[in-house]
Amino acid sequence: MDDHHGETPSVELRSVTKRFGDFVAVNDLSLELERGEFFTLLGPSGCGKTTTLRMIAGFEQPTEGHIRIEGEEVAGMPPHKRPTNTVFQSYALFPHLSVEANVAFGLKRKKIAKDEIAERVKAELERVGLAAEANRRPSQLSGGMQQRVALARALVNLPKVLLLDEPLGALDLKLRKELQVELKRIQRDVGITFVYVTHDQEEALTMSDRIAVMNRGRVEQIAAPEQVYDRPATTFVAGFIGVSNLMPATVTGGQEVKLDEGTTISTSTDGFSQGDRCHAVVRPEKLRVETDGNGNGSAELPRVEGTVTSSLYLGTATQIAVDLGEGVRMTVLVPNADEAERQRLPGGGARVALSWEPEHMHLVRESPNGAPAGSTDGASAEDQSQKLETSQGG
Ligand code: ATP
Repeated sequence: MDDHHGETPSVELRSVTKRFGDFVAVNDLSLELERGEFFTLLGPSGCGKTTTLRMIAGFEQPTEGHIRIEGEEVAGMPPHKRPTNTVFQSYALFPHLSVEANVAFGLKRKKIAKDEIAERVKAELERVGLAAEANRRPSQLSGGMQQRVALARALVNLPKVLLLDEPLGALDLKLRKELQVELKRIQRDVGITFVYVTHDQEEALTMSDRIAVMNRGRVEQIAAPEQVYDRPATTFVAGFIGVSNLMPATVTGGQEVKLDEGTTISTSTDGFSQGDRCHAVVRPEKLRVETDGNGNGSAELPRVEGTVTSSLYLGTATQIAVDLGEGVRMTVLVPNADEAERQRLPGGGARVALSWEPEHMHLVRESPNGAPAGSTDGASAEDQSQKLETSQGG
């Protein structure tokens, strides 16, 4: 084990590939998770995140590559022999057993002393806030409570790694948000490694220490939430996390790009060479809208022109779509802090300029893996506005 870089990783995947027949579900994946990390596998349906989780759990075997947990190769080791536990979207509780007996089940099978079982079960039920429900049956509990039982049942075994497969997927939005906060608290409290699978970008941003964004069986970026959002690596990541405001451009110098629509902007071009094609990303909340009568922006700021195609009131903000021509569409999010200001926002058909601070623009590469399977190029307008609404808290 080459742990000369420091501590042995909690979970390590080395060039892991999983094929189902000719289909490659996971393609040459390498990951290193630190102990106690909240690590999320994020991506659209079919990108291979569940398959990756199932290989760590031992429900699937990799076709190629290595998986190590705390330095130990786990190839061929069945799920119950691994230092992992899995929480599924369907809570998979025993309906005929009480909450307490559900949580105690694994410990009883391991023939642990009765007193110790009672003590550990009590502690876990307290941790997940269900001490008062110990004698109830799962059917007498809400979905959120049942998922807490499933969590207690997994944690009571003291796994080194807890694997969670869309655990909040069956719950409604409000409950899901409550449980996100709760899960994060519990994870900090127990301090074990969590590997969390979700297709919900907001959930991933809220809870994770790091996120691996997956597309068609491959990882496109592994980074902290702020970095994935502010510094996406590819067009796919930019579009999947948040709204894809992508302006096609060419790198024209060491510190310069030229947008296809004509504007030249000085910016960091790290990782790019002169002549490279790329996209410039500016997040919706970082764009400013200027109309003819209100040229309040500084003359030095980068600026593009376009036509407003829609303006949508979202409660906390107004979302304005601006067409720059050549199929480039930008979304602007203006907070509704001041009603008089909101009334002055341009409506459909208005000619506007969009400006931004240079540091809020970031260059991304075309995704090497293309658009996700089954999707057309990027998300629809409705998808985009839904994403905005959820990231605004509705
Ligand atoms: P979802 O959220 O929809 O489950 P996912 O990203 O978790 O998506 P996986 O479940 O990992 O995706 O599946 C990745 C791909 O592998 C999918 O196209 C799926 O159809 C395929 N796949 C998964 N399991 C099998 C299997 N046992 N046999 C054949 N194909 C499979």
